[in-house]
Amino acid sequence: MTFEQLKLIPPILKALAKENYTQPTPIQEQAIPPVLAGRDLFGCAQTGTGKTAAFLLPIIQLLSAQQGRPSGKRVIRSLILTPTRELAIQISDNFKAYGRFLNLRSAVIVGGVSQKAQEQALEQGMDILIATPGRLIDLMNQGFADLRHVQILVLDEADRMLDMGFIHDMRRIIAKLPAKRQTLFFSATMPPEITSLVDSLLTNPMKIEITPVSSTAERIKQALYFVDKPNKLPLLIDLLQDKSIESALVFTRTKHGADRLVRGLTKAKITAQAIHGDKSQNARQAALNNFKQGVTRMLVATDIAARGIDIEELSHVINYNLPNIPETYVHRIGRTGRAGLSGIAISFCEYEEIPYLKDIEKLIKQKIPVIGDHPYPMTINESTPTAVSETRTSVTSSEDRVTRGPNRNDSAGRKGTFEGSGRRRKRRS
Ligand code: AMP
Repeated sequence: MTFEQLKLIPPILKALAKENYTQPTPIQEQAIPPVLAGRDLFGCAQTGTGKTAAFLLPIIQLLSAQQGRPSGKRVIRSLILTPTRELAIQISDNFKAYGRFLNLRSAVIVGGVSQKAQEQALEQGMDILIATPGRLIDLMNQGFADLRHVQILVLDEADRMLDMGFIHDMRRIIAKLPAKRQTLFFSATMPPEITSLVDSLLTNPMKIEITPVSSTAERIKQALYFVDKPNKLPLLIDLLQDKSIESALVFTRTKHGADRLVRGLTKAKITAQAIHGDKSQNARQAALNNFKQGVTRMLVATDIAARGIDIEELSHVINYNLPNIPETYVHRIGRTGRAGLSGIAISFCEYEEIPYLKDIEKLIKQKIPVIGDHPYPMTINESTPTAVSETRTSVTSSEDRVTRGPNRNDSAGRKGTFEGSGRRRKRRS
């Protein structure tokens, strides 16, 4: 299938050629025709599938086909709601690329930066507004954002917006939109709240499901290291002696954990920066740019901050902590396998994370290959008193919230996986 066959107009085809997109991804193939035909869409797809172009290309085409504007000033004809600033900026960058040969204007409205420029952009008018819900609500309450002309609404990463507590803001925003509109809804997972939101917002939607989470894991080479918590940093430093790991995105569970890890890596002369919700927008962007340009070797991120950041050709993902939500594991490692590239995902599992591992392996329907031969094998097991008395610190924000996994006794069944790894091997020099 080609983009021409999807009946995209020449200025868009030209822009895609400039981006070196030779053929549509599966979600683009399936989503573009119904969206061009005006249908609602429900896409179950995650970042990395090409979902942004799947909604932007038909939106650009539909809006540019409309002759004239209702008044002299541009009005917001499409609203794209997305959970994070990074994702909003990425969508905006993609829009600029795909719409470069057409006369459409967009603006980004996100928190964490001054409101002034956003007020001015709204004042001047735009065709497409890309926004995170919190700041948009603020501007709506102050009378700056007029959503009465919106024809196409996109809810991008809706599950993540729910996770981040945006549901009320989302509903308040949607209440201000015309009832007669086209709605495109994307979510990587399908918890019950998503199903009910889909039912309430979409009319006879075209449903598309891309890459069920379990199959993403099949393309990616995975490796698991059982290691005691205090030895994770030494193990990581040891692994990074391998120069073939030119760069890696490292996931920690908490913001504090991310900062701690950056300090540890820096001390070991491994360049690293963190990207998480406590960092200013500028600091996050700078960290991302440094990583993309190879100034830093490691980008350490929490899940929320990492969601949506677009890094091409990422070869390694390292799970410094295993996530407590198994789908998150698939999202994380899926970041290495973009645009047909295969990647390597390395995971560290401490004693307390064994239940998470169990959940992950159940979801991906495979056992992650264990690397038993390493310098810091796990020594804690269920007979070690510290293993059961250890508690996690309490936390303050969504990125730091830690949900305890299933009953720790579940780990008994995993014992065999790391049995025999109790001997210590001499550290590689
Ligand atoms: P997304 O899932 O929208 O975050 O897209 C993932 C990455 O794939 C982005 O870097 C896009 O620029 C890229 N991409 C999207 N569609 C295509 C395509 N048809 N061919 C090549 N790359 C693409």
